[in-house]
Amino acid sequence: MSQLKYCQGPKCHTYDTKDRKKGPKDNKRNETRRRSHFYYLDGNCCSMQCMYDWFNVYGSRALDHFGRITQPKVLTQDNAWRKRYDWNRDGNELGRHYVYNYLTEERRPITEQQYDNDSAVTDDGRLTV
Ligand SMILES: [Zn+2]
Repeated sequence: MSQLKYCQGPKCHTYDTKDRKKGPKDNKRNETRRRSHFYYLDGNCCSMQCMYDWFNVYGSRALDHFGRITQPKVLTQDNAWRKRYDWNRDGNELGRHYVYNYLTEERRPITEQQYDNDSAVTDDGRLTV
């Protein structure tokens, strides 16, 4: 069994739901949710509300800490490549997997292996094949 962790939403305990209620009748309290897995804020928040609460409190500080975008990021033909798969060509394996350039509209076939193992295009859209 995986480890339980607490929702990181700073106001999680203030939302009044049955599963947050703890303690005996004379000492009732609401607690932050604790689960083995969360779906929001990259697995750190129990709900969209808690995710927004986190960002409202910590978001600006996180941006300042990790660095804000201070000049435009640019998509050029060098980093405009994306992997694609053609669902309409049944029967013909050749050309089903390809890389596509959003700016030049160029299309280059790649192998299924290149498509599957992420070797054809870098995370920032540069072609490696
Ligand atoms: Zn929460």
